[in-house]
Amino acid sequence: MALRNIVEEGDPVLRKECKEVKEITPRTLQLLDDLAETMRDANGVGLAAPQVGILRRIAVVEVDDELYELINPEIVLTEGDQYDDEGCLSVPGKAGKVHRPEYVEVNCLNRFGEEVTYEADGLLARAFCHEIDHLDGVLYIDKADNIRYLDEEE
Ligand code: ZN
Repeated sequence: MALRNIVEEGDPVLRKECKEVKEITPRTLQLLDDLAETMRDANGVGLAAPQVGILRRIAVVEVDDELYELINPEIVLTEGDQYDDEGCLSVPGKAGKVHRPEYVEVNCLNRFGEEVTYEADGLLARAFCHEIDHLDGVLYIDKADNIRYLDEEE
């Protein structure tokens, strides 16, 4: 495994649409491992492939010590609304409030190429939506209505 460099806002790679994964190769698995390691090293809740410069529909999310590996994720159901603070490893030092569904169901492939469905609410639902947005070149700052700079303590 290896840490990858996280690209920051202003880098055009964050604004591109990612390509579907057609075949899961050893490189795909390496990328999943590296995304998880890089996310943990940066104390993040999620990390998407474009954030390390790779335009593939791959992301990882970790909430409550549970790691979710998403390949070609699609949100197939949303319910309710939540409005809370969000941040992004590619937009360091800032946060803003974003509306997200309270509940989502996400279809994706796991690392074995099996179709899986994740049901998520609260923070996990928020993290899934945030990471899947990355795969379409969307950043949370596009949706937040009050971006602020974080204090040292936050
Ligand atoms: Zn992000």
